[in-house]
Amino acid sequence: METLAPEVLISEEDIALRIEALGNAITEEFQGQEVTIICVLKGAFMFCSDLMKKINLPVKLDFVALSSYGDGTASSGTVKMEMDLSDSIKDKNVIVVEDIVDTGLTIQTLKQTLEARGPKTIKLASLLFKPSRNKHPVNIDYLGFEIQDKFVIGYGLDYAGRYRELPYIGVLNAGN
Ligand code: 5GP
Repeated sequence: METLAPEVLISEEDIALRIEALGNAITEEFQGQEVTIICVLKGAFMFCSDLMKKINLPVKLDFVALSSYGDGTASSGTVKMEMDLSDSIKDKNVIVVEDIVDTGLTIQTLKQTLEARGPKTIKLASLLFKPSRNKHPVNIDYLGFEIQDKFVIGYGLDYAGRYRELPYIGVLNAGN
């Protein structure tokens, strides 16, 4: 199997610092209330796990699995729900936790689906955002980092199912 050497784009330390700030912002905004975190599988699992630990509120957790990429590095242009939530979000303070907003199609589609279920509020936390690729505008309430138009891996993000375990965000460079 071909293995490419990843280059660090955002270090483990920088990710941890940023997540702490996002957790504090969420804690402040929802003081005294419960929040329901919706982790968008698979890519957001690591971000979601670390973010939850920095939210000092009663928290519930649910999962949704979406796919738009298959095994490649370009979106197929359609979003499929592979796995739905297990609980109702009616009248809940929902925070959707996503790994990366690229064209915005995935998150826009998901937000529309969830809004139709009557949450009290719905916010979006995304670790990464590629502004140069954005076609479907979405408001990211809690953003980790803006990045350039590069295909990134690590910290939950994969290339053909691999590299999710890396503790940092990296880019793949052929030939090193
Ligand atoms: P969008 O619908 O915004 O174009 O794409 C969002 C989804 O595409 C993300 O949830 C993620 O799964 C995948 N994606 C977009 N850009 C990247 C990238 O640079 N690296 C990886 N591994 N996945 C990406």
